[in-house]
Amino acid sequence: MVDDPERARSRMRELVDSISHHDERYYLEDSPEITDFEYDQLFTELKSLEAKFPDLVLPESPTQRVSGKPLDRFPQVEHRAAMLSLDNCYSPEELREFDSRIRKWLGSESVEYVAELKIDGLGIALLYEDGVLVRGATRGDGLIGEDVTSNIKTIRSIPLRLNRESGLSTVEVRGEVFMPIAGLNELNLTREKAGEPPFANTRNAAAGSLRQLDPKIAASRPLDVLLYTFSYSTDAIPSTQDACLESMRNAGLRVSPHTIKFSSIDDVLDHIDAWESKRESLGYDIDGIVVKVNSLSQQERLGHTAKNPRWAIAYKYPPKQRVTRLLDVAFQVGRTGALTPVAYLDPIEIGGVTVSRATLHNEDEMKRKGLMIGDFVLVERAGEVIPQVVRPLVERRTGDEREIVVQKVCPVCGSDAVREDGESVRRCVNASCPAQVKERLAHFCSRGAMDIEGAGPALIDQLVDAGLVKDVSDLYNLTEQALLSLDGIADKSARNIISAIRDSTDRDFERVLYALGIRHVGRTTAVALTDAFGSMERLLSSDIDGLSKTEGVGAVVAGALRDFLDNPENGHLIERLAEAGLKMERTGKVEGPLSGKVFLFTGELKALSREDAGELVEALGGRSSSTVSKSTDYVVVGENPGSKFEKAKKLRKTILSEDEFLRMVGK
Ligand SMILES: [Zn+2]
Repeated sequence: MVDDPERARSRMRELVDSISHHDERYYLEDSPEITDFEYDQLFTELKSLEAKFPDLVLPESPTQRVSGKPLDRFPQVEHRAAMLSLDNCYSPEELREFDSRIRKWLGSESVEYVAELKIDGLGIALLYEDGVLVRGATRGDGLIGEDVTSNIKTIRSIPLRLNRESGLSTVEVRGEVFMPIAGLNELNLTREKAGEPPFANTRNAAAGSLRQLDPKIAASRPLDVLLYTFSYSTDAIPSTQDACLESMRNAGLRVSPHTIKFSSIDDVLDHIDAWESKRESLGYDIDGIVVKVNSLSQQERLGHTAKNPRWAIAYKYPPKQRVTRLLDVAFQVGRTGALTPVAYLDPIEIGGVTVSRATLHNEDEMKRKGLMIGDFVLVERAGEVIPQVVRPLVERRTGDEREIVVQKVCPVCGSDAVREDGESVRRCVNASCPAQVKERLAHFCSRGAMDIEGAGPALIDQLVDAGLVKDVSDLYNLTEQALLSLDGIADKSARNIISAIRDSTDRDFERVLYALGIRHVGRTTAVALTDAFGSMERLLSSDIDGLSKTEGVGAVVAGALRDFLDNPENGHLIERLAEAGLKMERTGKVEGPLSGKVFLFTGELKALSREDAGELVEALGGRSSSTVSKSTDYVVVGENPGSKFEKAKKLRKTILSEDEFLRMVGK
């Protein structure tokens, strides 16, 4: 470990450069030069140096990607130059008109176009000063956006510093932040498991994530970026759009590889045609092709109207919609008892995917659309992912259509399904409703939760239907014999299932907390709660206020959590799970910036109790001890310190004041 600040400074510089280089290889070029393990070693070394020399942390350090605190709201940013939106067109004729207008204005000059994919995301502006990313802002209304810098920094494909060789220092670049389709699917799965509504499409998901007030949550969202223009620069930039893109690429900025230059509008149209079907294979959503005049000097002379630049236009693809029959509407019962209306459709292919079911979200949404069973309906794959029923084709009704009856009882157990005031969903009130029990079990056993191999939907159905399992704690009382009584379960698989259930008692507390399936408590929240409270006991004794003040936990989560914990049945469930040997407190070593460091506290601390200070250290991977020894790294001294302080001085330990300690742990 480096002790001298000057050497530390240069080593930190080296590490930051090296990590940015490897990030670029990994995230932009998809060709890593080192193993993940080697990468982690660089990262760990940097983190421990930064913990030791907190004043020397470089602003572009990769450790700063997730460092911001949750905000109440985003500060506003006035854009240097207005972020104009593009004029749209929807047909080849309109695009030809655009071409004729351009040629008329430019007279005899020759014209080149570049065609770029129109990413379906959220417009952003990134400001680099002296090569370092200093600000990221949303488009907002085009004149004033929101400062989302701390969230922007969590996107790994956005470099925190531009390549030095690129010659760019102070520039603003614009582009689009988006969520890949696979990322949305995964995110929606976890949201549904946590009882949260899924995002309707990748654009909403990207916008919702980028506008998260807590950067920790933003960091957990799979966002990516593609940049496409310089909007400001103190350095000379190339004279054409395609050369500008090349220059951005050289600076380490992520640029689409699918931009092509054309000299005739017919070729542009062929290109647009080809991409309409090719876009399925991209892995992210595009909603059209942007056509720009390539020469920047021509762009400047063409100028803009009040709303749009004259030198560019967006050719929009038609949404992927088809007409089919609504055969039936059924209500599905989720883990929290919520009844979700699902439309059953005459199967139809939309954009390469066969659609036979579509979500109707909730009762109100369903009523608003005025659907009837038997209707011809317009179905759309919004954001190319979740099929939606857009509207009924009322003009095609024959009179044979039937009203949709809203279920007031649970379709599975027959208990009342009640809609509370202010809620958009109706819920089955029976906590032991087999449908709910099954969903809760499936969540409990899932990979992100207790990860019980072999406990899939088929087994869960059997266990609940046979009355062997009434809640998740019953899993731990199962015997091989009981399993053998089920159809199709032989000796070996019974043994494997029992041992998988037994193995699951090793899972960390944060997984147990997540596995309980409390509304709004997803993986990230469970981790945040574990970081802050450390044990079930402390969670049980915390009030709503204490809970909602936790980083990454808002009032809604706190309310849902308190509701869950206050329900006596859940209390008993937690007791039974604890008896079964599940972890009810944080255990094991946390890897963090203070990994391997031993702290000793002496004297009275002002800002926090000694106990809390110890927990803070542990949360960052360190350890606190009560005696000064060889292994003690830091001695934190409060008011009226005792003999330990004297001993620490004698042993030449690093002494920290309370303030220095707080700064070190980032408080
Ligand atoms: Zn029910």
